[in-house]
Amino acid sequence: MKKLILIKYGELTTKKGNRNIFINKLSDNINKVLKEEDVKIIKKRDRMYIESENIDSTVKKLQKVFGLQGIVIAYKTNTNIEDIKQMVLEILKEKNFKTFKVETKRANKYFSIKSMDFNNVIGSLVLKNINCKVDVHNPDLTLHIEIREDTYIYTNEIKGIGGYPVGIQGKGLLMLSGGIDSPVAGYLALKRGIDIDCLYFDSPPHTSIEAKNKVIKLAGILDEYSGNIRLLVVPFTKLQEEIYKRVPSEYNVTILRRMMYRIATSINKKYQVVINGESIGQVASQTLTSINVINSVTNFPIIRPIACLDKLEIIDIAKKIGTYETSILPFEDCCTIFVPKHPVINPKLDKCLEYENFDYESLIEDCINNIEIITNFNNNYKDLL
Ligand code: ATP
Ligand code: MG
Repeated sequence: MKKLILIKYGELTTKKGNRNIFINKLSDNINKVLKEEDVKIIKKRDRMYIESENIDSTVKKLQKVFGLQGIVIAYKTNTNIEDIKQMVLEILKEKNFKTFKVETKRANKYFSIKSMDFNNVIGSLVLKNINCKVDVHNPDLTLHIEIREDTYIYTNEIKGIGGYPVGIQGKGLLMLSGGIDSPVAGYLALKRGIDIDCLYFDSPPHTSIEAKNKVIKLAGILDEYSGNIRLLVVPFTKLQEEIYKRVPSEYNVTILRRMMYRIATSINKKYQVVINGESIGQVASQTLTSINVINSVTNFPIIRPIACLDKLEIIDIAKKIGTYETSILPFEDCCTIFVPKHPVINPKLDKCLEYENFDYESLIEDCINNIEIITNFNNNYKDLL
């Protein structure tokens, strides 16, 4: 019996005008994640079909591709009644069930029997040959029959992760620290189809090489959902030291974050949005007043996908997507070093402007000119830490 993978598209099916763009982007992305697999991909309007030498590992990779609603391992046969009947019996021979129902989807209108009638034809066949009963409400087994140019028969559907194909919404830049929050924010942005790069502010020797490796590893884990991530590492030490020299301690973090925003929003015109992992009220720099004062350095769009989630909700997602275990490793990033005892909770804009009375522009320029770019995570990142 010939087995293949059948892909059901996600939310994109509702966007009729953009359908081809969606499907093409999705198949590009699938090609990218399956580049090391021995597969043949056939894309059609309603479904994608993948023939694979190793169905299990292919399915595992497909479970990280956004834009997939369902992944099905199906048996393929000719669209004629006798072939379908024979295959149904062969498939069910290996299954263990007491109750069942049949769900036919007839996309091929040249097939003369209507879906409901065909359910009955196949239902009777099964009842005659196997000791079982029909239960349309809560069956042990649902037999799906999709009648198209060929016919596909399956009993199980693996849920896809949904969302839009990565890249359908253009490019964004994720501020990625080593914490729990920002990788989750990045995942959610990818899920809406934003093709992200990551930006990390590195302050050696105040932050360790382990802290940087942790961020590389997190970027690598996110890349499993994208295949296209670049990590930009900003040498932030000088600017950060200057801030600690000049700015009263309770304003350190506020000014530091204003500098981060200035850099993130001006690195490259190809980015249409900056994404970060701020969550309302979580720390002093994330009160609404703080966010206002920090955000006022730019009118560039900044999205905060986890702004309104609780920490426990964020942790749940981090565990599900595979970043949690790395995020909780105890290496400090540049926001956790030199943290003042009493960071200001309601910072004032005029104070910030007063404390920023030094030539930070040239320091920012240095930061941007000396960015290190890390790409091609492949599997290399897995051995870090
Ligand atoms: P996280 O868990 O993501 O580290 P956090 O709760 O520690 O977040 P902050 O340290 O205040 O919060 O940082 C808020 C957001 O600012 C982070 O989620 C991240 O998007 C960004 N950020 C903080 N530090 C860095 C850094 N060193 N490099 C890049 N982005 C950073
Ligand atoms: Mg942090």
